[in-house]
Amino acid sequence: MRKKNIVELVLLVLLVVLVSCNKQTATEERPSFNSDSAYAYIEGQMAFGPRVPNSKAHNDCAVWLIQQLRAKGAKVELQRGQMPDYRGNMQQIYNIIAHFSTPEIANRPRILLGAHYDTRPWCDEEADYADRYYNVPGANDGASGVGVLMEIGRQLGQRIADSTLRTPVDIVLFDVEDMGTPRFYTGMEREDTWCLGSQLWAKNNTLPYRFGIVLDMVGAPDASFPRELYSTQYAQNYQQQIWRAAEKLGYGALFSQQQSYPITDDHYYVNYIAGIPCVDIIHYDISNGTGFASWWHTRNDDMSNISRSTLQAVGEVVMSQL
Ligand SMILES: [Zn+2]
Repeated sequence: MRKKNIVELVLLVLLVVLVSCNKQTATEERPSFNSDSAYAYIEGQMAFGPRVPNSKAHNDCAVWLIQQLRAKGAKVELQRGQMPDYRGNMQQIYNIIAHFSTPEIANRPRILLGAHYDTRPWCDEEADYADRYYNVPGANDGASGVGVLMEIGRQLGQRIADSTLRTPVDIVLFDVEDMGTPRFYTGMEREDTWCLGSQLWAKNNTLPYRFGIVLDMVGAPDASFPRELYSTQYAQNYQQQIWRAAEKLGYGALFSQQQSYPITDDHYYVNYIAGIPCVDIIHYDISNGTGFASWWHTRNDDMSNISRSTLQAVGEVVMSQL
C-alpha cells in the first residue's frame, strides 16, 4: 500500500509537471514573424515608385523581388502571358512564382500564399476629378501583402536551412490585379477585368494544393478583416480554421466574425478556375460607402497607413497555418 502510494504520488507530480510544461509552451509559442522585416519590404517596394504594369518601376521591382526570393532559398519562375484589359487590349502579365520545398517533401500537396505586386494606374476614388490620373502609391493596396509574404519567405528559407519545413509552400506574387475598369470609363464594361494575373495563373496551374491564402490591404493601423463571402462559399473550413487561429493568438478583434460581401480578388479565380480552396484576408470597411478604407484607390494609400502591429498580427496568423 505504502509503496503504491509513493508511486502514485510520483506519477501525480510528474503529470502536474508535464501538464504545466505543456501549458507554458502553449502560451509562449507564437509563430515566428518579424514585422520590421515586412515593413522594410513595403518601404523597399515603395522606393521604386508606383508599380504600374509596363513601367520601369514595375519591372525593376519585379526583378528585385525575384532576387530577394532566390536569396531566401526559393526556386523562382516568372510566368509570362497575356490577358485582355478593360478596353480589350492585350496586357502583358508577369507572375512571380516562388517554390519553397525540399526533395523529401516535394510530392506533398502544397500551400499557396498570394498577393498582388502591381499597383493601380488611376486614383479613381479621388473626390477631385483632376486627381484621377495619378497612380495609386499602393503601400496597402499591393505592397502590404507582398511585404508580409516576403518576410514569410524569409521564415520558410530558415525552415529549409534547418530541415524543419514539413509542407511545400508556394508564394505567388500576382501581376495586374488592379487594372480593372476605371470608374471614369464610359465604354462598354467587360467582365473579369480585375485579377488578370491570378486568372492566368489559375488557368495554367497543374500542381496539387491543399489550400491557399491571399493577402490584400493588410497593413492599416485601423484594419478589420471580416469574413469575405467567396472564401466562405468556397473554402469555409479553411476560413474557420484561420479565424479561429487568429482568435487564439489574441487577434479576434481584427479578424472579426462579421460576414462581409463577396469581393473579386485574386482568391476568387484561384477558387473558381483552379478549384483550390482559397481564403482572402482583406481589409474591408462596411461603414464606408465603397466598402473599403478611405485611402483605397486614392493618393493617400501611402506609408502613413501602414502599421507594424497589423503586419505582425497577419504574419503570425498566416505562419500558424504553415
Ligand atoms: Zn486595388
